Amino acid sequence: MTRSLTILGATGSIGRSTAEVVLAHREEFRVEAVVGGSNAEALAQVARRLGARFAALADEQSGPALKEALSGSGIGSGAGASAVTEAAERDADVVLAAISGTAGLRPIQAALKPGRRIALANKESLVCAGEAFMAEARRLGVEIMPVDSEHNALDQALAAGRNSDVETAVITASGGPFRTWSRERIAQASAAEASAHPVWSMGAKINIDSATLMNKGLELIEAHHLFGLGADKLDVLVHPEAIVHGLVQWTDGALTAGLALPDMKVPIANALRHRERLAMALPRLDLAAIGRLSFEKADETRFPCLALARAALRAGGAMPTILNAANEIAVAAFMAGKIKFYAISEKVETVCSIFSGRNMSAPVSISDALAIDHEAREAARQLVPV
Ligand code: NAD
Ligand code: MG
Repeated sequence: MTRSLTILGATGSIGRSTAEVVLAHREEFRVEAVVGGSNAEALAQVARRLGARFAALADEQSGPALKEALSGSGIGSGAGASAVTEAAERDADVVLAAISGTAGLRPIQAALKPGRRIALANKESLVCAGEAFMAEARRLGVEIMPVDSEHNALDQALAAGRNSDVETAVITASGGPFRTWSRERIAQASAAEASAHPVWSMGAKINIDSATLMNKGLELIEAHHLFGLGADKLDVLVHPEAIVHGLVQWTDGALTAGLALPDMKVPIANALRHRERLAMALPRLDLAAIGRLSFEKADETRFPCLALARAALRAGGAMPTILNAANEIAVAAFMAGKIKFYAISEKVETVCSIFSGRNMSAPVSISDALAIDHEAREAARQLVPV
């Protein structure tokens, strides 16, 4: 059965991998709309390749360039927030959400429509507004399928039993580019060094989050919302080969793990079609050739962002929203060369402690979450040199 699909963040790393999955299965998908940030050329190109009906750019200024790049194609276009909302709202069976950062939240909210599936790559939306987002999805009967490789693996592993029989759900971390570096050396790391991920090829922000291990912390919070598991039932294991992505320890002593080669096309294909699997002509995992897999504990002394995220998850309320907002500001400042590597965790910690006395409850709506997000960003900006 042909499914209609909209891709939010079509020009990014996940968006491009999604386009490859779709192009390998032309008969399975009809692309309704594609959304990008500001690159008109790149968006027009993917819209043409996928035969999309509509293309929208978030950046209003780039609207004329997009129109020009699409001229003669018959593909409709728009630019600005309302065009992005229009794209997200258009009729589609599946919406793949791969805008990076909290900027993805409003478009995802617009995409929450009864009976739909959201293939969710954007973890920040769950960290920022998890309770409100999941409640809204349940109310509308929207199925949320994780694209994040660890959560996609957990989703498959969890299908082997009941949630009430889960002792621990574990997500793995490759450890990032600084896994074997000393704290002293990490302290001097440049943005380019932090972006050189040993296993995955990803967008700019998630690359830095992988170097600080904040990515893993955000993923714990993401898992909490997706699977309804408490902080005490979630854990992280460093696994440099990135072959085992998620493991479920059951109460009877059995363990179910999700394995795959580290290629985002695997979880993307799974999230798009779920249990009716898409046949993918990708290299197969050859465990005999790999020979051995290794695992180690995460070091929260060298990677304090992981401890901060765990603390935010345990504290609950608005703390994950605040942590996520502060992290986005701090990561942007680090990428711009304004602060050093460990200043990322220091700024996040300071912003969290500024707000912790207020005991703010979890945002009840997405608007509420964005208001807290805004306030925490302002506090974080005060701490970053201009
Ligand atoms: P990316 O930076 O490569 O791509 C981001 C996409 O969002 C681009 O198409 C960009 O144009 C678009 N965009 C940016 N700001 C926008 C805005 N304001 N409005 C509309 N569109 C906007 O990022 P990515 O690596 O593809 O990651 C996307 C999301 O998926 C992130 O939330 C990330 O955490 C998550 N994720 C990524 C990977 C990966 O392997 N790359 C794995 C798991 C989860
Ligand atoms: Mg991941």
